[in-house]
Amino acid sequence: MTLSPSLFDRARHVTPGGVHSPVRAFRSVGGQPIFFARGEGAHLIDVDGRRYIDFCQSFGPLILGHADPDVAAAVHAALDDGWSFGTCEPYSLALAEWIVQRVPWVERIRFVSSGTEAVISALRVARAATGRSRILKFEGCYHGHGDAMLVQAGSGLAGRVAASSAGVPPGTLEDTLVAPLDDDDALDAVFDQHGPEIAAVILEGVPANYGLLPQRPAWISHLVARCRDAGALLILDEVITGFRSGLRGAADAIGVTPDLVCYGKVIGGGFPVGAYAGRAALMDLVAPAGPVYQAGTLSANPVAMRGGLATLEKLERVDAWRTLEARTSAFVDALSERFEKTGGPAIVRHASIWWLHLALDESTRARPGFPLRPTEHPEARAGVRAAPASIRRPDRIPADQAAWYMRFFHGALQRGVYLPPSTFEVCFLSLAHDEATLDRAIDALAEAAADAARV
Ligand code: PLP
Repeated sequence: MTLSPSLFDRARHVTPGGVHSPVRAFRSVGGQPIFFARGEGAHLIDVDGRRYIDFCQSFGPLILGHADPDVAAAVHAALDDGWSFGTCEPYSLALAEWIVQRVPWVERIRFVSSGTEAVISALRVARAATGRSRILKFEGCYHGHGDAMLVQAGSGLAGRVAASSAGVPPGTLEDTLVAPLDDDDALDAVFDQHGPEIAAVILEGVPANYGLLPQRPAWISHLVARCRDAGALLILDEVITGFRSGLRGAADAIGVTPDLVCYGKVIGGGFPVGAYAGRAALMDLVAPAGPVYQAGTLSANPVAMRGGLATLEKLERVDAWRTLEARTSAFVDALSERFEKTGGPAIVRHASIWWLHLALDESTRARPGFPLRPTEHPEARAGVRAAPASIRRPDRIPADQAAWYMRFFHGALQRGVYLPPSTFEVCFLSLAHDEATLDRAIDALAEAAADAARV
């Protein structure tokens, strides 16, 4: 008898679906969620004392692993000094200066408490700066739960949308356009029709919320060119990739200079921090410097600021990005080799982010309920059989993947490995995942994949 089921039963009586964020309910993988009591480096420990190697790492913030001692020391010191002032304080100044000195496209930064808030605020700045209303986002990219971003592609005219959540007012949808990733023609159609109305295009640094979908450099250049021609701003949503892909985020990796950038997750080291940032001319539109209102009672909370700064300083001090790159690359290579022998999935990697998917085959089509037309992939059009690693948009994810992941996820769990509880969430390596831990994980995941393939 374990404690988690009874805790979940109680939770369902006091919170919607028993959780405070939907994916935690295990609806995508089936079964009941596990309640965790502690985190330690690469591991999570559940309420019954069972240890798991954790590749979810709080969905990305914990790049140093759970309870990193340097971050813990900074946060304990912050607690001793009092934890919320609602005044000017030196801690957010230190974090802001640290970032401004290192990221060329960040001249001003404003701290908020989540990635969602960062995106909502950046969109407001873009609209104020351009005097335009429309925002273009891409199908499969997630930008938090602001009304304007809870949309999916609709049918009919280029860019038209439908709400992806109940409760989003129809008026909000008027101003959001959606285009598929990796589709130059669709991009042209949206810009040809709506270019002069578009305030900003928002793109994830590397799309990582519908699987991990690295984009073609040529598509990115096309997007940037159309954006510049139309006088639209480019907002790079680096909530996942910021300070994860490297010091300058994915912008460096994909060769893009954003007008505005959104941060979350790693910037707060596991504490509630988000931020939006950019050139002084744009960010000085924000109150009280300018007319764009945005505020927060707990914005730049001193505990979170000191936790975030300790995280970033340590990443730089120990050159963690280099270590993580090498370690994740070796891990993914070794795991791929084992999967090849047992008919396991393919692996896509960007920096210390990785994602498993079934190989593409001819039967690949839009999943039932997924609103995109099953458009031919450009590589398929050119007569090239798409390589497994070339999934660049959600409708290319094999239809049977969710059912496979359900088996794989539980097989991994039984063997002491905790993966994100949805096949569309990505996995993260932290600096605390040492080689011995990763070797154990490879054995467990290879066995889980062999089992999952047998059904
Ligand atoms: N943008 C991206 C790319 C995200 O991945 C997320 C969350 O996963 C958000 C925005 C929203 O951030 P938060 O959950 O902190 O509100």
